Amino acid sequence: GVDLLTFGESMVSLRSAGPLSAGGSLAMHVAGAESNVAVGVARLGHSVSWAGVIGADPHGEYILRQLRSEGIHVRHRVDAVRSTGVMFLEQRTADLTRAFYYRTGSAGSTLSRDDVDLALNAGPRILHLTGITAALSAEARAAFGYAAERAAAEGVLVSLDVNYRSRLWTRDEARAVLAPLARHADILIASDDELDLVAAAGPGAHPFGGATSDDAEATVAHELLDRGVSEVVVKRGAHGAGVHTATGRFETAAVAVTSIDTVGAGDAFTAGYLSAVLDGGDVPARLERGAVMGAFAVSTAGDWEGLPGRDELDMLAATQSGAT
Ligand code: ATP
Repeated sequence: GVDLLTFGESMVSLRSAGPLSAGGSLAMHVAGAESNVAVGVARLGHSVSWAGVIGADPHGEYILRQLRSEGIHVRHRVDAVRSTGVMFLEQRTADLTRAFYYRTGSAGSTLSRDDVDLALNAGPRILHLTGITAALSAEARAAFGYAAERAAAEGVLVSLDVNYRSRLWTRDEARAVLAPLARHADILIASDDELDLVAAAGPGAHPFGGATSDDAEATVAHELLDRGVSEVVVKRGAHGAGVHTATGRFETAAVAVTSIDTVGAGDAFTAGYLSAVLDGGDVPARLERGAVMGAFAVSTAGDWEGLPGRDELDMLAATQSGAT
C-alpha cells in the first residue's frame, strides 16, 4: 500500500495579482486542501495517492497532469456531465486573500463511497481527511464518514483536519457532522478557532470567542483524548502550533520568515507533520517539520508550488527558533 491516501475536491484556481475588480491577467493553478497535502507529502519522498472526481473538461485534465507530475498516484473518476470546480483567488493584500467559488454542483462535489473504496482496499499507512469533503454534498459526507470509520476499524492511521469553510456551511452544521466523527481520528488537526467544532459537549459548553482561550483549548483537547484521539494538533498561525497527547503538551514557535502568501500554510504544516509521522519521528519532530513546511508555504507564492523537497528542508530549519 501507499504511505498516504487522501481524497477530496480539487479545483482550478484563477489567481489575480491585484484586485479582481480591476481585471488583468489570471494565472491558473491547482487548488484543494487535500491535494495540497498530497503534494507536500510526495515532495518529501513518500508514496501518495489522491482520489477525486473531475469534469470532462481541460481544466480537469490540467489538475490530473499537475498531480501526476508531482509523482502522486491519481485515482479519479471523470463525471461526463458536471464541470470541474473553479475559484478566483484575489490576493488583496500580502496578508489577505479572498476566494470566490464556482463549485456548487461541481464534479468534485459528487465524490462518493465507491470513489474511495478501491483506494482504501490498497491499505494506506495514513488516511488524511479534511472537513471540507464533509461539506460538499450528501454523497461526499457519506464517503467521508465511511472512510473514517473503515480506516479506523482496519488499523489505518486516520488524520483529520477540521478545515472549516464558512462559504460551504455554518459552524453549527459543521459541528453536527464533525464532532461525532472526530473519535475516528488518531491525529486531529485544527486551527485554534476551529477546535470548538469537534467538541463533544457542543456549542456553548466552552467559553469560545474568536480564538480559543487556553483553558477552553485544554478542555476540548482532553475530551478528544478521552474519546480515543491520540494527538490533538492546534495550529496558531504566526504563533506556531501545539499538540496535546496523553503524555503531555508540546509547543513549537513558527519559523521566522517573511510572509508573502499565507494560503496553504495549514496544509503544508499538515504535510510536514504527517511526513514526520511516516518517518517514525516523535511529537517534537512532527511539530518541527510541520512548522518548517508552514514557513515554506507562507514565504513563497502559491498554495503549494513553493513547498520543498526533502533535501531543501534544511534551508529554513537552520533559521528556526526551536521548540519551546
Ligand atoms: P490556512 O487555512 O491559511 O492554510 P491554517 O489556519 O490552517 O491556515 P496556520 O495556523 O495559519 O494554518 O498555519 C499553519 C502553520 O504554518 C503554523 O502553525 C505555523 O507553523 C506556520 N505559519 C503560519 N503563518 C506563519 C507565518 N506568518 N510565519 C511563519 N510560519 C507561519
